[in-house]
Amino acid sequence: MMEQKTTTALPLDSAITPFKKKLNSSLTKKPISVLQINLGKRCNLACTHCHVEASPQRTEELSPEVCNQLIQLIDRFPQIQIVDLTGGAPEMLYGFGSIVEAARAKGKQVIVRSNLTIYYEKGLGHIPEYCARHQLRIVASLPCYLADNVDKMRGSGVYKTSIYALQWLNRLGYGQNPNLILDLVYNPQIPSSDDFALTPNQASLERDYKVFLQEHFDISFNNLLAITNLPLGRTKFHLEHKKLYKPYLHFLESHFNSTIIEHLMCRNELSIDHLGNVYDCDFNQMANVPAKTRDGKTLTVAKLLEAGTLDLIDEIQTAPYCYGCTAGCGSSCGGTLI
Ligand code: SF4
Ligand code: SF4
Repeated sequence: MMEQKTTTALPLDSAITPFKKKLNSSLTKKPISVLQINLGKRCNLACTHCHVEASPQRTEELSPEVCNQLIQLIDRFPQIQIVDLTGGAPEMLYGFGSIVEAARAKGKQVIVRSNLTIYYEKGLGHIPEYCARHQLRIVASLPCYLADNVDKMRGSGVYKTSIYALQWLNRLGYGQNPNLILDLVYNPQIPSSDDFALTPNQASLERDYKVFLQEHFDISFNNLLAITNLPLGRTKFHLEHKKLYKPYLHFLESHFNSTIIEHLMCRNELSIDHLGNVYDCDFNQMANVPAKTRDGKTLTVAKLLEAGTLDLIDEIQTAPYCYGCTAGCGSSCGGTLI
């Protein structure tokens, strides 16, 4: 798989420019239209690159109280167009079905971020049919179309199970029926030297994925989303272990592209954790950097309900890992940005 090889242009011992200084202004919020909910940190896998640090041993998940508050939020705010469910493995976590059904009843688009192997866990074999019945958009991780790379990142046998799962989804009409959208997510390998690379061109990588998966497994899908690894969670841990954390940030900063700013996913999104706390994006959630109101207060779902508005944030909280979203063609949970 071809990546755009580029070495960092900045001296490795220089300081990382604060992201806000790079922008010459603060990053401002637009009206909220996307609610991304992290249902918890439990997952049947424990991938090497996971920024959530999810695993089967994690126990954090939504409570009935926060789940009810989220359903009220979805019911009360027509401006929420997309409800994006993530985790951990959202399908195995408390509140998945209730939130899906509340959101679909209100006509929202519902995205479920799936690792595919979850369909083969005990008691979860109904999930593919459930997703099709409710016309959920599935955004499925397949960090490479080659088996070795996937198994290296996600665990032995994950590629084979993912292929079976994709064939199952195709049999249900996913990837073919216009109401059953199936997108795949590409993640680069974690760098093992300072010969860093930008995420490959999304359109040409999508063509490679489509040709390979069709020819070898008769699999079809809609879009490929190419996502840059942000230096957070296990990715940060591995980079630090190899003394590559700061060089990687330098590399990302040296590929800063100001035209991305307008399209960043944090501009119109609220990210909610399993306790109901509010963040500007999933990355800030994992770094424990909460969203702040214009008078400097943190937010919860309960506070949003009490205030009767979703638009209480003026300035988005930023950090050095934001350079991962603005390098090259940009990156978001929806793939590249330009
Ligand atoms: S990357 Fe996704 S599938 Fe892998 S451990 Fe994290 S949440 Fe689970
Ligand atoms: S990490 Fe990315 S999405 Fe999150 S605040 Fe920074 S630029 Fe925005």
